Amino acid sequence: MTAAADETTVLPATPPGPNRGLAEIEGRDITAWFGQHKVLDRVSLTMRAGQITALIGPSGCGKSTFLRILNRMHELVPSAQLAGEVLLDGEDIYDPSKRLIDARRAIGMVFQKPNPFPAMSIRENVLAGLKLTGTKASRSTKEELVESCLTKGGLWNEVKDRLDAPGGGLSGGQQQRLCIARSLAIKPRVLLMDEPCSALDPTSTNVIEQTMKELAQEVTIVIVTHNMQQAARVSDQCAFFLASQGTPGVIVEHGDTTAMFQDPQDPRTADYVHGRFG
Ligand code: ADP
Ligand code: MG
Repeated sequence: MTAAADETTVLPATPPGPNRGLAEIEGRDITAWFGQHKVLDRVSLTMRAGQITALIGPSGCGKSTFLRILNRMHELVPSAQLAGEVLLDGEDIYDPSKRLIDARRAIGMVFQKPNPFPAMSIRENVLAGLKLTGTKASRSTKEELVESCLTKGGLWNEVKDRLDAPGGGLSGGQQQRLCIARSLAIKPRVLLMDEPCSALDPTSTNVIEQTMKELAQEVTIVIVTHNMQQAARVSDQCAFFLASQGTPGVIVEHGDTTAMFQDPQDPRTADYVHGRFG
């Protein structure tokens, strides 16, 4: 296909898929290994549609591994193995009939360190995912998408006059919001965020937390955070992971965030959310 034809192929208003409403994602009996080292043991968690679920727990208890399993990034590590299922609205993304690209499209990821393409313009950064997933769009559709994704990412007003400036020239907080905008451009149904604010200042953190709350209206969010105040502020549901004394990570307790913080059922949860360890 020529470049000109490419520009005029229209992006469908609603991307394909049996159900474009809010999606539930469920990990069922997830066990994970790196080589011989078992790091998660039969972890099950349902992350509800249109809610923000926070994964909390001390370093090394398998939160990032669990998150990466939710969009098939775990399998990128050569020694990594996995048992269990990940159901996106009831369908196992690991089913042999399912394509990796579809899982990555439906389930986006934002990392701890903002990773925009530094030399690409702000506009190109937002649109980068379309190219990677082979999605065609007309020029006007692309312009609308750039504006709507940057608006949802809470960045539009700061960059609308310099969309051709390099993404690498933005501040750290702005770069992270650019990464959020980029992940939204392919219209994911779930957005995974692995400590997205831990490299940012409090003001940028606050902007991203506001952005997350607005996004939850249209995308299911799962966030790993070390910051208990952040978990309490942004999440609806919380899951407390723990790997005690070299054993694999498990979920000790999960439920409504308010209950987890105010009336935890397990003494280990109480100790953790009150900052007594980890
Ligand atoms: P958390 O995000 O809760 O800090 P991780 O999921 O990163 O925990 O790590 C869980 C365990 O898996 C740790 O023991 C860690 O050392 C190990 N691990 C993580 N990534 C790798 C890897 N790529 N190769 C080998 N071991 C790993
Ligand atoms: Mg981690």
